[in-house]
Amino acid sequence: MILDLKDIKKIGPVTLERLNANHIYTPKDLLLYFPRKYNYYQVDNSNAFCGEALCFKARVASRPIWIKTHKNSRAFVFYIFVNERKIKCVIYSSDYLRFKLQIGLDIICFGKYKEKENEFSLSTVFFEDFSSRIELDYGILDIKNKMLQNAVKNVLDSGFSLEDDLPIQFIEKYRLGSLNEIVKLAHFPRNVQDCERVRRRVRYEDFFWYTLSLEALKKLRNEDIKQPKIINESLIEDTISSLPFELTIDQRNVIQDCMRDLKSNKTMNRLIQGDVGSGKTIVAFITALAAINAGYQVAIMVPTEILAKQHLLTIKRLFPFLASELLVSSLKQKEKEDILFRLLHGRVSILIGTHALLENKVIFKNLGLVVIDEQHRFGVRQRQTLLKKLKGVDALYLTATPIPRTLGLTSFGDLDLSLIHTMPKNRRPVETKVISMEDISTLALTLRRHLACDEQIYVVVPLIKESESLDFIDMNKAMEIFEQLLPEAKLGVLHGKMKANEKDEIMSSFKSGKIECLLSTTVIEVGVDVSNATVMVILDAERYGLSQIHQLRGRVGRGEIQSYCYLVTTKAYVQRLDILSKIQDGFTLAEEDFKLRGPGDYLGEEQSGFMSLNFDYESNDAIIWKCALEDSRAYLEKYGKDFHKNQRVEDIFNQISYKKNKIN
Ligand code: ADP
Ligand code: MG
Repeated sequence: MILDLKDIKKIGPVTLERLNANHIYTPKDLLLYFPRKYNYYQVDNSNAFCGEALCFKARVASRPIWIKTHKNSRAFVFYIFVNERKIKCVIYSSDYLRFKLQIGLDIICFGKYKEKENEFSLSTVFFEDFSSRIELDYGILDIKNKMLQNAVKNVLDSGFSLEDDLPIQFIEKYRLGSLNEIVKLAHFPRNVQDCERVRRRVRYEDFFWYTLSLEALKKLRNEDIKQPKIINESLIEDTISSLPFELTIDQRNVIQDCMRDLKSNKTMNRLIQGDVGSGKTIVAFITALAAINAGYQVAIMVPTEILAKQHLLTIKRLFPFLASELLVSSLKQKEKEDILFRLLHGRVSILIGTHALLENKVIFKNLGLVVIDEQHRFGVRQRQTLLKKLKGVDALYLTATPIPRTLGLTSFGDLDLSLIHTMPKNRRPVETKVISMEDISTLALTLRRHLACDEQIYVVVPLIKESESLDFIDMNKAMEIFEQLLPEAKLGVLHGKMKANEKDEIMSSFKSGKIECLLSTTVIEVGVDVSNATVMVILDAERYGLSQIHQLRGRVGRGEIQSYCYLVTTKAYVQRLDILSKIQDGFTLAEEDFKLRGPGDYLGEEQSGFMSLNFDYESNDAIIWKCALEDSRAYLEKYGKDFHKNQRVEDIFNQISYKKNKIN
């Protein structure tokens, strides 16, 4: 039996290193590293001239010629006969195709038909004949899929088998198949039904362990007590009345919820849910002020540096008397050490930062409250790391992503919930229109009118760099398009791969109006506030979830001027996205999303092992989620006390128990 990766045929030191880089260290890891994607090809010539994901037989009609594309990469153009028509094909490829594509050769093409150009854009050409086939994609750069599959075969052939820790009653209940059976199917599917069986078990298992750890977390969190904080009510009242605006009723109520939590001897564990722009920040900051006034330090954790900086500015403006600092990865070593030193000695009252705040060297003198903004962007593991450090520390989570009820009150069930439904006065809904890419030049006229009124524009671009597997607009292409559409406008570019100081520069140029039209990836999604920006254009809008688009459009409509959001997409998606022009309520959109896309969108970025698996099917994840949730509860109820009988459950409890490192 193979017990070490080294013993697998054809795995040398280089491959071994690459496997390790993907967290594959043992034969077990290898077997459990499932393909990220199954590509299913079914030859069908009945309908070869419309739509996406076409797979059809054809005959090569001309030698390929090499062309340079807008993407600055190599592509070949050649003609084929298909259903007795001669038609052009474009394929991005390396040289080898040039020699293989001989006139008269029968091939199988896979790709999509572009109506406007009257051509096929192919992603693959097959030279062997088949009527259907499945290809595995493990998604590991530098290791061929075939090689990985052979390695798996080697391990399986040696008689290696895995222990199944999913409780047997649930495997039987849903006929999920034993782990060893599923592993075989995952790496060697014979047909699409096999893939579906893999998907069902993987999803179920993912959700089961996920919900189980949340339930366990809830148990632990409920038992956590702390020293009550003494609140200076009149300070809070005075602060509220000195604000430049009047708080909404909901904001006031939520502040009261938070004050009650601070005063309680049970550790606060509250989620504030409110649509984008509903004013969650001020609620959190007033809570922070109360905690500081009671003699504690406060940490504010946000997903991006841009947002961290924006919060620091707001705090300094609102509470100039507080010692507030920023801890982000772009700081110089010396500055960091200085802040950490003062933090340790209690000379910093508010520390704002990204997940850098979770590092062990960040030690507070007397941490009393942690605010986690845009909490849905933090994955479950980050949340667990955080919570295990937070014994006796009040925690306040803010989110604009309404968690669908089906998933919601349950999956974040360890949190008390406060809702902000009312929007601040004078806030107008963002008028949303879906337009197809062909009409983008008409849109330019509208955009120019806005620019002429000194309003500013966000353009959301799906990709930073071109990608061969994803056919979306990248930054360069977007720049080209908008330079043409808006020749007069000052354009700027912002994306997550830029250095922090570059991002800052761009953001402040946009805030000050020096940049009129900002092309950005979704880094602007969370929390950024520029009230003069009134228009948002989202390119390739179909690639986002409804909730995410709703979040994005929340970046405009922050001032009193009517704002607009244009969703640019291809014809096929106009209808699906149109719901955004009718519905402004994030809660309803979240339910729709949940039905369409399952729970993946709501569980944070860094999911447990399999969550990123992409099966290209209509999702019934919502149903699987529900079952897994009910089951994990029942399981915990029944076996929770002697969890050590199952290693996995024990691991979960150990992971989240408070014993280890604390912040203070
Ligand atoms: P979000 O809930 O999306 O985090 P913010 O807290 O960033 O929203 O608030 C959006 C904007 O609304 C900010 O500029 C904030 O100053 C302003 N704001 C918050 N509450 C009110 C209010 N009650 N009346 C008017 N403006 C408000
Ligand atoms: Mg916010």
